[in-house]
Amino acid sequence: MADQAFVTLATHDGYARGAMVLGKSLRNHHTSRKLVALIGPQVSDTCQSVLKRIFDEVKVVDVLDSGDATHLDMMKRPDLGVTFTKLHCWTLTQFSKCVFMDADTLVLSNVDELFEREELSAAPDPGWPDCFNSGVFVFRPSLETHGKLLQHCTEHGSFDGGDQGVLNGFFSDWATADISKHLPFIYNLSSIAIYTYLPAFKQFGGNAKVVHFLGKTKPWSYTFDPKSKRITGEAHEAASQPTFLLDWWTLYSSAVVPMLQEQHGDQPFQSGCVEFQYCDTVPIESEEIPEASCSSPAQVETPLSSEQRKQKWEQGQADYMGTDSFDNIKSKLDTFLK
Ligand code: UDP
Ligand code: MN
Repeated sequence: MADQAFVTLATHDGYARGAMVLGKSLRNHHTSRKLVALIGPQVSDTCQSVLKRIFDEVKVVDVLDSGDATHLDMMKRPDLGVTFTKLHCWTLTQFSKCVFMDADTLVLSNVDELFEREELSAAPDPGWPDCFNSGVFVFRPSLETHGKLLQHCTEHGSFDGGDQGVLNGFFSDWATADISKHLPFIYNLSSIAIYTYLPAFKQFGGNAKVVHFLGKTKPWSYTFDPKSKRITGEAHEAASQPTFLLDWWTLYSSAVVPMLQEQHGDQPFQSGCVEFQYCDTVPIESEEIPEASCSSPAQVETPLSSEQRKQKWEQGQADYMGTDSFDNIKSKLDTFLK
């Protein structure tokens, strides 16, 4: 067990906050494995200190900074900087097997059984299910594999510009070779799936073990009032995932913010951390860490004009959980029919 680890990555403070919540969620669900965070040099001292309290190992990686031949090759592709950094997880050879998890994932129950799987195991991507989603994957650290991956990356680049394109290019037989390497979707439930297949989400969503806040708007892009449990976001960023989002914010505000506050001491908080103001005036006992669950509905304030709603509907981004819920549509139809 000591030679197996969950690994995540954060190149700056936003993703570092995600990593803290992920690490806390793994701890709360009593993982028996080690926790490792790879971080970029830009991560602030405060965030580094908090990460060190949650993770067994915090390793600063800066792959674009070195001068040897491989690194020089990589520097020809500055666009793939974060991707290269993610590949760094293969160098953690003190571990025999690891599970990589994006910093924007949250664990809802113990997932240690993932270590029974082999490299490279991952769940299908909801957008193109013949590709795996690289937000959660099982791998075996190996300098040899790392070298081959970097070579593949510099030679072929990434068809989507990110790590998912590189990894799917390298582990290209994932879709067809071995079904045991297909993780069930509940190990990487992306918020997008709720919209694209709502009945399936209603049927199986309750079994979710890992939720992935995939896409542009991350949980930490919103603000949260712990007292009223209100999550606020800009109107054009209608909350994708009200219940899971509330799980994230509940854990963050109750367990992570007190640690950040402690670390900060008297110094004022950095800008962009609006929620600290809330938590300053509404102290929350750090002992009261609620279990993450997807039962309590969050109130997400995203007031949209009817024109904006129409546009979103036409773009396939209906607010299925709120205004455009089945019940609301049905009662609207009922009034028309009457
Ligand atoms: N990441 C990072 N810094 C960045 C972008 C990404 O540390 O600027 C890491 C982080 O762990 C993140 C992962 O790479 O979760 C993949 O990126 P992201 O989750 O934003 O992609 P998505 O899942 O939305 O496709
Ligand atoms: Mn992600």
